Amino acid sequence: MAGNLGSHDEGGLDEEDDSRHQEHYLWKRRRADDPHCMHCDEPDDTVEHTLFNCPFWAEDRREMEQCVGRPLQPNDVPDIILGPEQELLPDAASRRRRIEAMAEGLRLAFGRMVEAILGRKEDAERVRQARLF
Ligand SMILES: [Zn+2]
Repeated sequence: MAGNLGSHDEGGLDEEDDSRHQEHYLWKRRRADDPHCMHCDEPDDTVEHTLFNCPFWAEDRREMEQCVGRPLQPNDVPDIILGPEQELLPDAASRRRRIEAMAEGLRLAFGRMVEAILGRKEDAERVRQARLF
C-alpha cells in the first residue's frame, strides 16, 4: 500500500495519531460552514459518503471491492469487522482455518482502506484550512 499517496504530498504520516482529533474537528467545522463534499458534487459530505460513495476515493476502495467482488456498502461493515459466524463455518478444520484467514485478511484490508481514505481526506482538509487563513 505504500506509495499510494498520489498527489497528496502533505506526508506527515508520523504525526498522524497526534493530529487525528484536531483533524476531525477541522472536518466538522468545515461541514458546519459548507456541508458539500470538497471532492465531488455531493451536497452532504459524511463519513459514509467519503468511505463508500465519493468517486474521488475509488482507487482506495479497489482492494476491498476485489475482495468482496462488488462495491462495498455500509451494511457490509459489521460482517467484515465481526467475521464469519462460527456456526456457518465448515466442520473441516483446514477449510475453517482458510475461511477465518480470509476473513482476517478482509478485516485488515478494510482497516487499511479506512486509514488511507480518512487520513488523506484529513490531510486535504488541513491544506484547505491552511489556505483559508
Ligand atoms: Zn465526494
